[in-house]
Amino acid sequence: MTIIHHPRSVERLIVGQETQDGAGVRLTRVLSHDLQERLDPFLMLDAFGSDNPGDYIAGFPNHPHRGFETVTYMIAGRMRHKDSSGNEGLLQNGGVQWMTAGRGLTHSEMPEQEEGVMEGFQLWLNLPAKNKLCEPWYRDIQSESIPEVTTDEGVLVRVIAGQSHNTAGAMQREHTDPLYFDLHFPNAEDTVFEQPLPTLHNAFVYVYRGGLKVGQGNKATDVPIKRMAVLTNDGDGVVLRAQANTRAILIAGKPLNEPIAQYGPFVMNTREELLQAVDDFRAGLMG
Ligand code: MN
Repeated sequence: MTIIHHPRSVERLIVGQETQDGAGVRLTRVLSHDLQERLDPFLMLDAFGSDNPGDYIAGFPNHPHRGFETVTYMIAGRMRHKDSSGNEGLLQNGGVQWMTAGRGLTHSEMPEQEEGVMEGFQLWLNLPAKNKLCEPWYRDIQSESIPEVTTDEGVLVRVIAGQSHNTAGAMQREHTDPLYFDLHFPNAEDTVFEQPLPTLHNAFVYVYRGGLKVGQGNKATDVPIKRMAVLTNDGDGVVLRAQANTRAILIAGKPLNEPIAQYGPFVMNTREELLQAVDDFRAGLMG
């Protein structure tokens, strides 16, 4: 049964940039600074995945954030986070940490494994101007607490945020109304997944296993592994047709349409607010 009548198509394909962050963690920056306005309210997406401890073992020692949310999805591996308010948690194998930095905190994100695979994503989601200085907050969502639904076609949807196929996700956020799904396609070729998307939502798909096509008929575009497809904003949703055993994340959100000013781990609306953030950090006001 077709639920999408006018599927969105691919506006452009993005190849991530290999880079290092933290104390020397190798990662791929898929959504970088130059896409922040196009993919508003999303500010960054990093993909990491390696079975070489040298690529991840240094971790992310103490560093601050202010003005947005970080969403870390750990597909494989274990990472311990500690923040300046005394919160601590272990993020592992299929779990998510959703952190609202708000007015600011300092935290560390360190691997709690010395070997094996570490794989996952960190997404930065902006906060509206009126909430940028809110009280910091976070939630650790263990893998078993992430709602899952399997479509009639056999696609397992892990619903991290938003709603898919009548299943509400682990998180709902006002203002940006984010959708964040991890899609596991079955061991069969040409499996179709359809998802309605609000027209205003900016949306993208990132393939981390296999490959898929976005769109229908002769307007479909191939999206190979390790590519992000930025979706057009026309149409009533997205139609994906995947190779066997493909895995992809589909992310969408309602743009804030506010000025974006970023200085490293601080994302505000104006340069003055960034200078204030630096001053506050140096004065020890972020823990
Ligand atoms: Mn961080």
